[in-house]
Amino acid sequence: MRIFDSHCHIDDKSYDADFQETLDRAKDNGVIACMLVGITLKTCRKAVPLCEARTHCFTSVGIHPHDAKSCTEEALAELKELSKSPVVKAWGETGLDFNRMFSPRDVQEKWFVRQMQLAGETQLPLIIHERDTGGRLLEILRTESPLEAGGVVHCFSGSRDEMHAYLDLGFYIGITGVITHKDRGKDLRAMVHEIPEDRLLVETDAPYLTPSPERNKFRRNEPAFVKRVLEKTADVRGQDVKSLAQSVFANTCRLYGINPDTLE
Ligand SMILES: [Zn+2]
Ligand SMILES: [Zn+2]
Repeated sequence: MRIFDSHCHIDDKSYDADFQETLDRAKDNGVIACMLVGITLKTCRKAVPLCEARTHCFTSVGIHPHDAKSCTEEALAELKELSKSPVVKAWGETGLDFNRMFSPRDVQEKWFVRQMQLAGETQLPLIIHERDTGGRLLEILRTESPLEAGGVVHCFSGSRDEMHAYLDLGFYIGITGVITHKDRGKDLRAMVHEIPEDRLLVETDAPYLTPSPERNKFRRNEPAFVKRVLEKTADVRGQDVKSLAQSVFANTCRLYGINPDTLE
């Protein structure tokens, strides 16, 4: 079974002491490739060389909606420059988060739209973060020009209608360990079977959202645990885990423009 953790933050300092061991544990669990998603200029500056020094580690460049208030045109120009590295396979994560409101709404919207343009200019797929925007993010996606390279709505947490709207717009849907959580995962488990097999991705969003039962033992999530997300998703969909794994791996490579034959 080949598994791709389509969204993690293992460039986080909580992995500084055991980064290689984290990748080794992932590999032992069939997780042979990881996407290290950028959230600030600082994390992107760190992740690009980190991935260049290894095989099967890829990264994205972007400013998270939480950090939108720190975004500038200069920062985006540097990200655009960083995106020339062959390990950069996506733009993000960007989007809107009206739950925590770490940045004002108008500031989040301004830089989200700007980063959509940059995804277009760089021909990179977009990694979208959405939380409690009540349809506002969808409204922006519909009014701005279509994204040629497509994208993923990661850690999907919206309604059934929103999920279908994203699918209709051509987006992939990212499933995290939330699907294994008893109460919080209820809604997701009720609709995950409606995602077409060729639009589904799995992710850890590590160090956050450790799946069950690992969360009883480990506070920090890591790519090895994405196997649990895949198993639970297959179980809820009533599918064979090996065949779902194959589809999900192919989906991730297709979205990020990676030739799966180059990943062993
Ligand atoms: Zn996110
Ligand atoms: Zn993330």
